Amino acid sequence: MLRNETEVVRIGDRMIGGDYPILIQSMTNTKTDDVSATVEQILRLEEAGCEIIRCTVPDEEAAKALDQIRSRIHIPLVADIHFDYRMALAAIENGADKIRINPGNIGSRERVQMVVDKAAAYNIPIRVGVNSGSLEKPLIEKYGGVTAEGLVESALDKVRMIEDMGYGNLVISIKSSNVPMCARAHELLAPRTRHPLHVGITEAGTITSGNIKSAAGLGIILYAGIGNTIRVSLTGDPVEEIKSAKMILRDLGLRRAGVEVISCPTCGRTNIDLVSLANQVETMVSGIDKPLKVAVMGCVVNGPGEAREADLGIAGGRGEGLLFCKGQIIRKLPEDQLLAALMEEIRNYQA
Ligand code: SF4
Repeated sequence: MLRNETEVVRIGDRMIGGDYPILIQSMTNTKTDDVSATVEQILRLEEAGCEIIRCTVPDEEAAKALDQIRSRIHIPLVADIHFDYRMALAAIENGADKIRINPGNIGSRERVQMVVDKAAAYNIPIRVGVNSGSLEKPLIEKYGGVTAEGLVESALDKVRMIEDMGYGNLVISIKSSNVPMCARAHELLAPRTRHPLHVGITEAGTITSGNIKSAAGLGIILYAGIGNTIRVSLTGDPVEEIKSAKMILRDLGLRRAGVEVISCPTCGRTNIDLVSLANQVETMVSGIDKPLKVAVMGCVVNGPGEAREADLGIAGGRGEGLLFCKGQIIRKLPEDQLLAALMEEIRNYQA
């Protein structure tokens, strides 16, 4: 897949843009000034595969906590700032590896300039984040509502303002919870900037609806070669965001991310509790970092053939099942030994 050309931006010890892999990020939902809870959550997110983490900085206490949090985690820390430019200054002084602001809600040009000067002094990137919910009135009037064109104009105006202040170490995000609008905005924005893009569908929703919305939206955007870092935004445990982001990137062929489990939809031929079996396999392989496709199929007659593109698989029958490799049956086993046998094959598998 051809990727949109962008500059490279360093965030802590990670790079985004250019030919660097698309990094996965999330945001904590603890109180940032509760250092223990925040660190505990970030460590769980790291374990799940999170590569950049953002914390909100609503007050002085949160800004001060960044320094302690950063010393106890292993991924770059981004400070999320709204309205108060002093929090941006404090976050940078306390070690933020990047800040996210919407210059539109930071206040006067002088205040934005102070934030930009501070970021420049510490040489950290600024993410200019524009959301459909906070689009300026003149742009709403100009385009007859909240539109992709308005979002792009808003983002580019702000980027130009910061560039005019003498700083170009920027990342841009334009987000909407409306999938076609968000996709269109990225199509319009990408050819007009060389700054890396942080992409995501904002306020996507709860686990099921949010995942579907994110997969649909990010699928369109990423498949067009656009995006250098992604966040799947879900209402729930942020670890779920990481799992989903990894799956979206893997399914689009953009990152290798562990074992992919495929399973058949079941039908009248199914003679095994396939739902439970597929869930067990998914849990079992979740920590295994091998680029493998594993199939869990509901019948021994069609299963191995239907899943011949899988590296390994099991097909359940009445009381017994088959273990297969690229469609070829390698063993027939009693049902209760299928999982253990599959696990052994996965462990021994050499690509
Ligand atoms: Fe039905 Fe077997 Fe195909 Fe699953 S693999 S959908 S059980 S025919």
